[in-house]
Amino acid sequence: MICYLFEEPSFLIFTAEAPELLYYSHIPATVLALLIGFFVYFSNRKHLLNKLLLLISLCFSAWTTASLLAWTNTNADFLAALWSIFAISATFLSILSVYFIYVFLEKRDIGFKTKIVFLVLILPVLLFSHTDLNISGFNLANCDAFDHEGLYFKAYYTTLGFISMAWILALLIRGYKKAGSSMKKQILLIGSGMEFFLISFITTTFIVTYLVNNGLLPDSRLEMYSLFGMVIFMTMVSILIVKFNTFRVGMVASQALVLALIILVASQYTYTSTKTTVGLTTISLLLTTVIGFLLIRSVKKEIKQREKIESLASTLEIANVRLQQMDKLKSEFVSIASHQLRSPITAISGYASLMSEGSYGEVPSKMKEPIERIVQSARMMATSIEDYLNVSRIEAGNMKYNFADFNLNDEVEHICDDLRAEALKRSLVLLFRKRVDGQGIVNGDIGKVQQIIHNLINNSIKYTQKGAITVYVHDDIKNKRVFVDILDTGIGMSAETIAGIFQKFERGDKANTVNVTGTGLGLYVAQKMTQAMGGTISAHSDGEGQGSRFTLQLPLVM
Ligand code: ADP
Repeated sequence: MICYLFEEPSFLIFTAEAPELLYYSHIPATVLALLIGFFVYFSNRKHLLNKLLLLISLCFSAWTTASLLAWTNTNADFLAALWSIFAISATFLSILSVYFIYVFLEKRDIGFKTKIVFLVLILPVLLFSHTDLNISGFNLANCDAFDHEGLYFKAYYTTLGFISMAWILALLIRGYKKAGSSMKKQILLIGSGMEFFLISFITTTFIVTYLVNNGLLPDSRLEMYSLFGMVIFMTMVSILIVKFNTFRVGMVASQALVLALIILVASQYTYTSTKTTVGLTTISLLLTTVIGFLLIRSVKKEIKQREKIESLASTLEIANVRLQQMDKLKSEFVSIASHQLRSPITAISGYASLMSEGSYGEVPSKMKEPIERIVQSARMMATSIEDYLNVSRIEAGNMKYNFADFNLNDEVEHICDDLRAEALKRSLVLLFRKRVDGQGIVNGDIGKVQQIIHNLINNSIKYTQKGAITVYVHDDIKNKRVFVDILDTGIGMSAETIAGIFQKFERGDKANTVNVTGTGLGLYVAQKMTQAMGGTISAHSDGEGQGSRFTLQLPLVM
């Protein structure tokens, strides 16, 4: 059946009777969509976002091609068949747009369940588009099927379009809230482009169909304006390509794209003849050229900055590797040196102790003090060497822990008993207090825990000139924690000192005035070992001269 009022088209789409806006609205939008769709796809085929953009441009082109054919052809059977393409491509466009925006925002594929939802939504259109539910007849007089369109069918896929718009808006708002500043700009560009396209495409077709069906418009000519939304969307996509490299396209390719767009817009002069279309083409050409030029210029600037940052980053990386190598060498050196120092210092310490105890005969009273000094110095040196060795073990990841259950209360009490004499020598009182509800059983390396507590109490003795040191064990059964507080009335610490003392080689400003021989490694080692056993050490002080409180916290075994 042939519509009798119209002439046969040449090359399927050209007729003298077609309004000129038809070609102007359909051809550039379609060519632009396909150009950018394929360009993005072939620039990076693995990127899901690029595949989705190509699918969107293909669906859009299917719709525009069907529309061009429907406007210009006269074979009723052929035209009726085209009607299913409208429904299917519009539905796919709606769903693909949601999919595209999701992947753009989340940088990953949608979940399986959402894919099923998409499929369920699309299925009715696929199943019924070639049935009477879509169109039930054809009007040979005006050569279209608007009078015979199925109301529910059209309402279904149009509603789907509106749902997609709302869905996309919700995704965009959520994405925008959690995005960084660069991503926010990209979301605004792609979001406005996509929503503008969907609103103009779906809403205009919907309104035009409604008006035509109700006899308020003679034909669906107005629908043609709806396609400019795609031009806007693709312009936004081009900005994302060139400026933000969203689709991971190379820079040279991006510049080629801008050039191709300018040529494309200019080529419209070849088939535009009315004043309106020539004017429109000139405005588009000017806009494309100016935007393209600005984009390329800003991108060039960015590339230069990026290159500078990259070269700085690579220099830094080299320096970093070198530093790491040196740090490793230093640790190895410290480890070797410490091992070699350990045996002689143990011998010196041992023999000096035996001498001072009188194992080699009565020591003349004049010799007693010098020998005691040797004993003290040798002990301090042995402690420092042990600290160096511990640091190199920790850094090499070689520290071994023998975990077992033990009673922390008893251990702390024993250590206090051992150190009381040392404190008394400095006229300090060392008190032990406990208030525990549970057994105080801890799972850890008993030797290391002793070393940590010994170190903390020893520090309090070192950094306190007069007053008392109180060691207080208490527990929190509910949270399965046990605490050892070591409080002193010593030199105290400023907030800046506290912030640094757990770092390697860090010593407080005032530390040297009281105790000159520290290494600044004790707390670093203690903290690392405590952490390895699931605990923490924290330091508190109300300020210099106000005393200090160190708290060791370990998990309880219940
Ligand atoms: P060292 O005592 O060898 O300097 P540490 O790592 O044990 O090294 O301690 C680091 C620094 O923390 C000390 O130099 C000192 O400034 C500060 N500090 C540690 N314990 C106390 C304390 N009880 N009172 C005041 N300052 C302390």
